Amino acid sequence: MAWSSIKTTGIVLTVSPFRESDRRYRILTPDLGKIDVIGRGAQKGMAKLAPQLEPFRILSLEVVQGRRYMTIISAELKQRLSGLHRSFDARLLASSSCAFLDRALQELGGRDAIYPELEAWLNFLDGAGEIPRRERLLLYGGLLLRLMSHLGYDIEFEHCTSCRTSGNDPFWHPAYGGVVCADCRNKDRHRWFTAERIDLRVLDLMQAAQQLTYEDMFVLTADRTIVKQYTKCIQDLVAMHVPGYFRAPYWEGVLV
Ligand SMILES: [Zn+2]
Repeated sequence: MAWSSIKTTGIVLTVSPFRESDRRYRILTPDLGKIDVIGRGAQKGMAKLAPQLEPFRILSLEVVQGRRYMTIISAELKQRLSGLHRSFDARLLASSSCAFLDRALQELGGRDAIYPELEAWLNFLDGAGEIPRRERLLLYGGLLLRLMSHLGYDIEFEHCTSCRTSGNDPFWHPAYGGVVCADCRNKDRHRWFTAERIDLRVLDLMQAAQQLTYEDMFVLTADRTIVKQYTKCIQDLVAMHVPGYFRAPYWEGVLV
């Protein structure tokens, strides 16, 4: 067999021990999607390689595809994102999002837009400094809505998912991916029995969180009740549609 190495860029999502002295890295790349690579403990130079292979760093990588495993043979730092190591809040958000992607991409595979989204998100967090609780919830919810859209779930905030009209008395139905109007819901209560009335301000907030830049999300205003409904709606969407997602609510990871 001829050895062929692959060069790529990547961000380490998670690291775990593998066998006695090896490590297993889940890495998101722009061209190969998510890859699962092994770092061999006995490998010459691994002592130099391992410190680079920490989560949330942007790396230049070289990997070799073996019959069963992909092995990493070189890793160079492209961008350190050291602001993430100075802000506890930013690190919390970064590690939650990397763990989320590790699980969510298990079955869905890599999608072209996911890597740039993660890189932009980490760059934003790198310069964000301290992030208050409320903003952490809004930002992470916004990231999840964007990732869902990249994974093919276009969420409907304005038009009824059944009749396509925009009504003023919307209900929320996570399984159908958005709002349903009161008329449709009343006509077929059996079909829409889990739909719940939703405040228009919550819909506006979700839409803004999906569309604004992360920096601009700091100017969003919303009171506690609206933020609470916002997080619940996003949690329901993710739990309903994203494979491999744990049932624990996403805010547990970002409010410690
Ligand atoms: Zn309708």
